[in-house]
Amino acid sequence: MPDTDNLKLISLLLIFLTFSFVITADGKSKKREVVLLPIKPTVILPDIPVYTPDYSSEIFGLNYSRTIPDLIEFDRGCEISDMPEEYDIWSDSKINPYQVDLVNMKDTVTLDLSGYCPPSMKYVTSDFGFRRWRYHYGIDLKVERNDSVLCAFDGVVRLTRYDRRGYGYYILVRHFNGLETLYGHLNNILVNPGDTIRSGSIIGLGGSTGRSTGYHLHFETRYLGNPINPHDLIDFESQTVKFDKFQLSANNFQYKKEISKRRYWTIRRGDTLGRIAMRTGVSVSRLCSLNGIRRSSLLRVGRKLRYT
Ligand SMILES: [Zn+2]
Repeated sequence: MPDTDNLKLISLLLIFLTFSFVITADGKSKKREVVLLPIKPTVILPDIPVYTPDYSSEIFGLNYSRTIPDLIEFDRGCEISDMPEEYDIWSDSKINPYQVDLVNMKDTVTLDLSGYCPPSMKYVTSDFGFRRWRYHYGIDLKVERNDSVLCAFDGVVRLTRYDRRGYGYYILVRHFNGLETLYGHLNNILVNPGDTIRSGSIIGLGGSTGRSTGYHLHFETRYLGNPINPHDLIDFESQTVKFDKFQLSANNFQYKKEISKRRYWTIRRGDTLGRIAMRTGVSVSRLCSLNGIRRSSLLRVGRKLRYT
């Protein structure tokens, strides 16, 4: 076998070289023990298989096609955007592992939005903002069951999970432009954490999983874990970005001040509107108008009532 012959030859060469080195380095130490280093063969590991989703229209019910941007665009996004050092944290379980509050951020950060692709071509059904007793940190886009859900920018899938009481099946992608986007209530997830995804690639199928009434895509845009109103970045009428280079600043997080002004009472067993009014110091009629309920409305245990 030629391989064994080669190995023998290399071993001999190594022995010879070691001996000559010892002799040359110190002519008197011929009797000294010569330690031969074992020959380490070079191990070539197989390439890690890259997950490539199947784009065939028969499987995914694609109802339109889109050209995938060139890789040059992809690299450009990295150069222009300012990547914060907190992004050294890579969690495949937490949506916001950074613990950075950007309400008072001092700098302005430039984000390259030029590679945007609409995650769903359909209309907005619900906006970012206050819901009756909680805040809606994304927007809802209409989808039919198993409609293709597309990645909004180039990036890497950070997490894919199931949240029975919230997002249902959802995906979070970190983009090379510094944003992170979340896609919720999916019927199916077609990517894995760690996958590199291009803008416009199919990452999941539209559904109504988790806390959802009817088929829709819940779409969030975040920076360092802090949600940004997608309307600040994207014009959903024309399906394009509002700015190719977006200047992100504290202005985009001022909504949080409004949230912190609001106080909620969690309804406990035995609570009545009168009792909550006493405890919070807010009148029953004010409680009713704040929450859009009547004096006779049933109070469900665990639900939250706004009182400021
Ligand atoms: Zn939603």
